[in-house]
Amino acid sequence: MIHYVDDQKDFDNIFNVEIIKYAKGLKEKGVIKSLGISTHNTDIAFRAVEIGIIDVILFSINAAYDMLPAIEDVDILFEESTFKNRTYEGIDPKRDKLYQTCENAGVALTAMKGYAAGVLLSGKESPFEKALTPVQCLHYCLTRPAVASVMVGVSNTDQILAATAYATSSNKEKDYSEVLANAPRSSFSGHCMYCGHCAPCPKKIDIASVNKYLDLALIQEDAPETLKNHYDLLEHHAIECIECGICRKNCPFGVDIINKMKQAVKLFGN
Ligand code: SF4
Ligand code: SF4
Repeated sequence: MIHYVDDQKDFDNIFNVEIIKYAKGLKEKGVIKSLGISTHNTDIAFRAVEIGIIDVILFSINAAYDMLPAIEDVDILFEESTFKNRTYEGIDPKRDKLYQTCENAGVALTAMKGYAAGVLLSGKESPFEKALTPVQCLHYCLTRPAVASVMVGVSNTDQILAATAYATSSNKEKDYSEVLANAPRSSFSGHCMYCGHCAPCPKKIDIASVNKYLDLALIQEDAPETLKNHYDLLEHHAIECIECGICRKNCPFGVDIINKMKQAVKLFGN
């Protein structure tokens, strides 16, 4: 893991000179199995994917940062005033595209700052004006495309237990959708968050996964075979949708699910 690559000059220094040759050499010899960088900068993360030799990116991901524009000055993420007096329009499209691009390229994301440095755990500080639990924060990260794990910063045993409670939490305890959907200053309307709140579907369609594969396919000109294979592996497919509308009533983000199912059938053929 090559850490803290937030600056374009640092990126060039690492990837154009000896450091990357040394790291690649270690991988070829089997000393290391995967090569990663950590960054808070979306543009750097895109470059890391494009370069084609990075297996994993440690990236700052949480519901609060995701709503901020993906600008290059990452220091703004850490300023106290950043979330005050703003209205939000849901996930920033560039960040959204980054997660989908990573998933399509087979680059894993490890999330850091999953609690937004504690901001999301406080009703007073959170841009959603209601505290999320650590489990809900972790679930938000783990339901973003490409995210394979979350690194949690802790300072005592209770915080470790609060994070590891994720492993035994129910879907209801993990569900963050109500807090995000009802936040007075933000709107995620119409955008699938892959939260799974729409379940259960009477035809047992995993709507969140269908939507995720559909979104992954829609950012590319042609849906790759691997994506179609993943879709095919789902037990139930969009073609089984009977347009009952139950899911729509359950979706706090107002996603037009029936239309999404139709789009998936058109794209994947079933
Ligand atoms: S359709 Fe709605 S409820 Fe279902 S996963 Fe997407 S955002 Fe969540
Ligand atoms: S409308 Fe389709 S996807 Fe939604 S619950 Fe009914 S069958 Fe399932």
